Amino acid sequence: MDIFEGQNLLEFSERFKTDENCKEYLSKIKWSSGYNCRKCNHTGSQERVDYSRTCNRCSDTESTSVDTLFHRVRFGLRKAFFICFEMTTTTKSLSAKQIESRYGITEKTARLFMMKVREAMKSSENYPMDGEVHVDEFVVGGKETGKIGRSYDTAKKKTVCAVQLTQEGKVKRMYALKITDFSSKSLKTIFTKHIDPTAKVTTDLWKGYVPISKDYNIQQISSNKGLNFPALHTMIHQVKSWIRTTYSWVSEFNINRYYDEFCFRINRSQDKKTIFDKLIKRMMKHEKMALDEFICR
Ligand SMILES: [Zn+2]
Repeated sequence: MDIFEGQNLLEFSERFKTDENCKEYLSKIKWSSGYNCRKCNHTGSQERVDYSRTCNRCSDTESTSVDTLFHRVRFGLRKAFFICFEMTTTTKSLSAKQIESRYGITEKTARLFMMKVREAMKSSENYPMDGEVHVDEFVVGGKETGKIGRSYDTAKKKTVCAVQLTQEGKVKRMYALKITDFSSKSLKTIFTKHIDPTAKVTTDLWKGYVPISKDYNIQQISSNKGLNFPALHTMIHQVKSWIRTTYSWVSEFNINRYYDEFCFRINRSQDKKTIFDKLIKRMMKHEKMALDEFICR
C-alpha cells in the first residue's frame, strides 16, 4: 500500500472519502507483518468487507481499530483521520472548539480525541539530542509580567525546555517538560529523557544546573535577557503564544500533552511529507485509552 504523503488537503480528501477507505489504511498497518489471531495465534484469516479479519480456526473477528487509539471512535474514522491531518500538517493545529464547528462533533468529544492524538505524539525518548543543546526554564499561565526568568508565582506552570541547534544556530529539535520547581532534581528530568551525555549543553547562570554538570557537559553563560539564546527564546515565545492564543485554558495535569504536540510538529518540520502516516502508525501501536486517563482526580 502507498502511504499518504504530503500536506495537500484536496489529495487527502480524495484518498479518504469514506470510513472504509480509512479502515483499509489501518488494516494495512495493523497486519503489515501478517495476521496472528489474538485469541489462538492462528495465522490464517478471512478479510471482511469492513477490513476486519476473522480467524479461520476460532472465528474470532478483530476490527482494524480495536485496542488502538482509534478504538471506538464514535464519530467515524474519516473525521478522525481529518483531525489527525490538521494536527500534523497545519502550523498551529486547531482548538477543540474549532474542531467542533468544522466537523460537527461536540467540543468535549473533540478534546478527548485530540488528547489521544497528543498521547501518540509523545516522544519515544529513544533518540536523545546531541551536538549543541541549549536549556532554559520558563513559566506559562498566571499573570504575565513580561519578564523572562524564574518565578515563584504558584499559578504559573513551570517548564524546562531544551533545543538542539544546527551548525547555523537554527532549531533542529526541541523538547519541553512541565516541572514542579526549578530545583536541580526537577531540571535534570529533561537531561535524562532527552539529552545525550555527549551533548555540549549551554544554560544560563542559574545555580540549579551546577549539580547536573557532574553527569553532563554544561557551560553556563549569562542569558542577557534571552539574547544569548536567540533560537531557544524564539521557541519559548512560540510555544507560549500558541498555548495562549489557541487554548483559553490548559490544565497543569495535561500541559505536557500540549508540549508533546508542539514538539512533534517542530521536530518533523523538515519531514512533513510523511508526518501524517507516522502519526497514524503511532496511533495504531498505542493501546486504547479511556476518558478518565485524561482527567485529573
Ligand atoms: Zn483464532
